Amino acid sequence: MTATQDEQRIIQAMLDYANLPEIHTPQDVNHVYTRLKRHDWTQGLSVQGLRADQGRAKEWLELIVSRRASEWRSLVTKVNAVLRRGEHDRRVLPPVMVRMDIHPKTHQPTYRYSADGLEGITAIAVMLIFSRGLVRRVRKCQLPECGRFKVTWSGKVWTYCTVEHQQEGERLKAIKRAKAWRLAHD
Ligand SMILES: [Zn+2]
Repeated sequence: MTATQDEQRIIQAMLDYANLPEIHTPQDVNHVYTRLKRHDWTQGLSVQGLRADQGRAKEWLELIVSRRASEWRSLVTKVNAVLRRGEHDRRVLPPVMVRMDIHPKTHQPTYRYSADGLEGITAIAVMLIFSRGLVRRVRKCQLPECGRFKVTWSGKVWTYCTVEHQQEGERLKAIKRAKAWRLAHD
């Protein structure tokens, strides 16, 4: 099943959040999330809290791109720890809620989810990456000094985050190959 546009927006927001170079104000993070209908995702969160939260998004993406079963298992544990918040405490709002709904265009029964805050929306993004067959389409830019995360929705999967980084990466590879050739032929 392919991701809907709404789902793509959720996944993209997670990647954009992880890719933010530095968080100075809550506005930096809110910027990323304005596309997801809600005005203030960062309400009540300190810059420090937002940086820690970004650290978690990055950590989870690292586990995804590792493509190792053991890492995925640890990711599942981490995501579930978030999803289970408030499980035994009725005063705590669950981080993610799922409801059935009728699709406004197709009029078919469908489901929708809502998240309470960044933790919840990041957990949804992880579930969507796996359930929408995108896990092999999420990559970390191969340029060593970059390391930004990128998702390719269709077609050939990008291993660099931009055309510029692809060109730079290929240039570096060519230099490396030439060096290896010289060493082998000296
Ligand atoms: Zn890059």
